[in-house]
Amino acid sequence: MNTPRKTLVVGNWKMHGSRPANAELLAGLLAARPYTADVAVCVPFVYLSETAATLASSDIRWGSQDVSAHAQGAYTGEVSAGMLAELGCRYAIVGHSERRAYHAESDEIVAAKAQAALAKGVTPVVCVGETLAEREAGQTEAVVKRQLSAVIHTLAHCAAEMVVAYEPVWAIGTGRTASPEQAQSVHAVLRAQLQAATGHGAAMRILYGGSVKPDNAASLFAQPDIDGGLIGGAALKAADFVAICRA
Ligand code: PEP
Repeated sequence: MNTPRKTLVVGNWKMHGSRPANAELLAGLLAARPYTADVAVCVPFVYLSETAATLASSDIRWGSQDVSAHAQGAYTGEVSAGMLAELGCRYAIVGHSERRAYHAESDEIVAAKAQAALAKGVTPVVCVGETLAEREAGQTEAVVKRQLSAVIHTLAHCAAEMVVAYEPVWAIGTGRTASPEQAQSVHAVLRAQLQAATGHGAAMRILYGGSVKPDNAASLFAQPDIDGGLIGGAALKAADFVAICRA
C-alpha cells in the first residue's frame, strides 16, 4: 500500500515570543501563503488565544506544546485538552524531550497526555528520540520503539490518529542535524512499528525534528518516510520557517 501523505511542518516556539514579536512572525507566515504543505505553529499557552484570532481565517493551524493528562480538577498550573479544543487547537505536542528531561515525563505520562488530547479532538504530536549516549550505545531503535509502544498501547484503536515526531535529543537546538540517511532509517523503523500495531502506518505522518534549517530541510523531507518537520529555533524567524515550509 502506498498512501500519499501530505507534508506537515509544525513550528515549536518553545518559551519564546512576545505580543509584538508574535504579531510580526504570524504576519510573515500569513503573507507567504499559499503553502503546499500543512503548516502549524505550537505557541506558549498564553498566546493561544491571540494566535487563534490571527490565524482563524487562514489555513495555518495552531496548537500547544503540552497538555495535561487530566480532563479537569485540582491540578494547579495545568491546561486541559478541553481548554485547548475550545481555543481551536489542532495539535498538542506531547513528550518533547525537554519535558521528558526537565519535567520527568515518563513514557506512561506521555501516553496519557496523548490520550487526553485525542479524547478532545486535538491531534497529539508525539515526540520520541534517543540521547547521544543511547545512540552511541547502539540503543536508538530500542529507545524509540519503547517510547512509541507506550503510546500505541494506551491509544489502542485510536493510535493511527496521532502524528509522530522523531527528534534525536542530540540534534535539538544543537545545530547538529541527523543526516537524511540516519533520520530515514529511524523513520522506517517507526513506520513499520505503526503499521504492525495499527494497520495504518503507511498513512500516518512521521515528522523529523532536530536543527532543521532552510538549507537542510529539503534533503530531509525528500526521504521516503519523512513527512515534514517539527521546527524549533528556525520557527522563530518568518523567512526561515517559510523556507522550510516550502522545502
Ligand atoms: C524542537 O524543539 O522540537 C526542535 C527540533 O528544536 P530545533 O529545531 O531548534 O533543534
